[in-house]
Amino acid sequence: MIKKFVSTKLKRAASLCLMPVRRSLISIDGKMGSLVQKLTRKLIHFIDYILVRSFGSHFIEFEISSACNARCIFCLYPDIIKSGKRLKNMDKDTFAKAIEKIEQSNYSLISFTPTTGDIFMNKEWEYFVEQMLYVSKIKQIFFYSNAILLNDSNQDKLIEILKKDKKKKIFALLFSLGGLDRETYNIMFGVDKFNEVLENINQFQKKLKDQNILVRVSLEFRLPKNHKLDFEKAHQMFNQHGYDFCSIEVLYKYMNNDAIPKLENLEYMDEVKNPTRACTYLYKTRYAADGGVWADGCMISEMPGDNSLQLGTVDDPMKNLEENRQKIIYNWEQKHELPKPCQGCSFYR
Ligand code: SF4
Repeated sequence: MIKKFVSTKLKRAASLCLMPVRRSLISIDGKMGSLVQKLTRKLIHFIDYILVRSFGSHFIEFEISSACNARCIFCLYPDIIKSGKRLKNMDKDTFAKAIEKIEQSNYSLISFTPTTGDIFMNKEWEYFVEQMLYVSKIKQIFFYSNAILLNDSNQDKLIEILKKDKKKKIFALLFSLGGLDRETYNIMFGVDKFNEVLENINQFQKKLKDQNILVRVSLEFRLPKNHKLDFEKAHQMFNQHGYDFCSIEVLYKYMNNDAIPKLENLEYMDEVKNPTRACTYLYKTRYAADGGVWADGCMISEMPGDNSLQLGTVDDPMKNLEENRQKIIYNWEQKHELPKPCQGCSFYR
């Protein structure tokens, strides 16, 4: 456990040291000749590559909306709706309380990625993202979206925020996509939005390129079993304007646990059998749209009708929240009582 904790800390510290280097490289981009620009862009690419691989397990998942506009087959969202949970957008009062908590903690990385939902479902999303730029504790920001609502107006709002981000805290925008055709997309995302997403992604990257804004746009494909991504075709389709900072990744295997029935058309990560050490992701904190504060924040950390990973709410003192986290870890390691989402979890770290 100690080894894991130290390596996570080191990873985070190294990734923080790269931020000023990245900022300096961005500031000289375009001020020198094209040869120098080519080199600086390669370096920025390399740094971004490291940054998105060094999230570690000590960061905040910030959910400003738990409502979603897709029905992904790999997500528990449909079951959560059936369980009667009220899906909602975070309000400014809850946000202010969450920021107070963040100021008292020692996290430096925040992801505006909901456990279920999509950031753009909250009509005030840009207020929350912009405010986070001014939270001194937070040095790095990224988020996932399905890009269904990355329409013209949201593209412009996001670009305005990127321009206001003088410290270049926002280093990656990750978009989850479902294949290179409408049929595969519909299987994975359960909604008929392939064409809109394709157009949104291309239009957004065109604006970034035209306005010379440098931010990693990571297109993360989710595919059914036995599908392989044609990377060349993916680049041609989803980066039609040749934005330099577009990267493409694929997720072939999905997470699950003992309580989630496996689907025929998905391939799953291997389950970790009876881990005695508590998962390091329990050190992440999720601020939920309804004011709940949870350990972890991965896609299955909130099972329908189960709140075993909830630490409390934004109204609770920090001390109580942390005591509850320790209780979960103690019960796991000393009594072998695992929270429901962690039983048979294939995402255990
Ligand atoms: S074991 Fe799985 S559900 Fe539990 S904290 Fe780790 S990743 Fe999350």
